[in-house]
Amino acid sequence: MTGPSLLISAAIPGWEPGMVPRGFDCTITEQGVMEGSEFLANAFDKDVIACFLANKITDEFMQSHPRLKMVANIAVGFDNVDVSAATRRGILVSNTPGVLDAATADLAFALLLSAARRIPQARQYFLEGKWKSFSLDFFTGSDVFGKTLGIVGLGRIGQAMAARAGGFSMPILYTQRRPASPEVEQRLRARYVSLDQLLAQSDFVSLHCPLTEETKGLIDAACFEKMKTSAYLINTARGAIVNQCDLVAALRANRIGGAALDVFEKEPCVPPADLAMLSNVVLVPHIGSATIDTRKAMARLALSAVSSAFAGVQPPNLVNPEVWPVFRDRLSAAEC
Ligand code: NAP
Repeated sequence: MTGPSLLISAAIPGWEPGMVPRGFDCTITEQGVMEGSEFLANAFDKDVIACFLANKITDEFMQSHPRLKMVANIAVGFDNVDVSAATRRGILVSNTPGVLDAATADLAFALLLSAARRIPQARQYFLEGKWKSFSLDFFTGSDVFGKTLGIVGLGRIGQAMAARAGGFSMPILYTQRRPASPEVEQRLRARYVSLDQLLAQSDFVSLHCPLTEETKGLIDAACFEKMKTSAYLINTARGAIVNQCDLVAALRANRIGGAALDVFEKEPCVPPADLAMLSNVVLVPHIGSATIDTRKAMARLALSAVSSAFAGVQPPNLVNPEVWPVFRDRLSAAEC
C-alpha cells in the first residue's frame, strides 16, 4: 500500500531526499515553483500540497481537488490560501512562523539603510562612470541613528525589526489592534500609539502586519498626508497593504522622503514603471526570507507539520486548528 501523496510545488534550496516525510509518496519540482496547468495537474490526486505564495489555493481549487486534506504553506503569510474555505471543507492549513523572522527583519533593515543612504542610486551612478568630482551635497541621505522607527504590527518580524533598530538607538513607536505585552514593550523600549500618531511622529514607517481584509489598502493617500515629508515607508509585509497608486503620487509630489519595497500589489512583476522611474525608491523582488538557511528551515517546518499531522499528532503551526478533529476523523476513516 502506498502512503499519502504529497506534492512539493517549490524547489527547496539544499534539498535532500531525506527531507521527504517518511512513508509519503512525494512529487517535487526540480526548479522554481510549479504553477498554472502543471501545478493543477500535479496537485490533482494529492492528499497534501506543500506550496509557496505563487500557488493560489482558492475555494474553486479545493473543490476540484477532492482528495486534498492538507495545505502546508511554505511561508508565514497565508493570504494565498482561502483559509475559511479550507476550514469549511475540513482541510488543514499550516504555515511557517518564527523561522524567517531574522532573515525578513534583516532585509527590512537593509532596505531602511539603503533608502536612507541612497545606496542603490549611488551604486548606479558610480557604475555609470559619472563620479567626476566631490561636493558637500554629493549623495547626501538621511540619518538613521537616533531617528524614530514606527512599526505597524509588532509581531514576530516587527519585534525582530525593533531589536535591530535598538542597535541604532532608534526610539520605537508601534501600532496594532491590541498592545503587546509589557515585557515586549519594555524589552524593545517600544511605545504603543495610534496609527495616526505613528505616521506623524516616525522618520521610518515599517510594515509588518499580515494582509487581511482589514489591512488591505491600509496605507493610502490620507496616511501619506500625515507622514513627515522627510519620512520613508519600508514594506516587507505584503504589497496590497499599501495603495500603490497613492504611494506613487506621494513620492512624485515629494510628499514623503522615499520608500523601500520588497513586495508589490501584483507579483511576480516587472518593476512597476511609475515606481522604477522615481529616484527616491528602492525596489527588490520579494526576497524577505530569501536566505538558504531560512528557506531550508521553512521547508523543514512545513514538512514536519505534514508528517506530524499524518502521524496523528497536532502540529503547533496550524492556521486553522479548529479543523484538527475533522482531519483526525478523516485520517482514521481512511486507515480503516
Ligand atoms: P505575526 O507574528 O502574526 O505579527 C503580525 C502583527 O501584525 C501582529 O503583531 C498583529 O497584532 C499585527 N496586526 C494584525 N492585524 C493588524 C491590523 N489590522 N493593523 C495593525 N496591525 C495588525 O506575523 P509575522 O510572522 O511577524 O509576519 C508578518 C507578515 O510579514 C506576514 O503575514 C507576511 O505577510 C509578511 N512576511 C513577508 C516576508 C517577505 O518575504 N517579504 C517574509 C515573511 C513574512 P494584532 O493582532 O494585535 O493586531
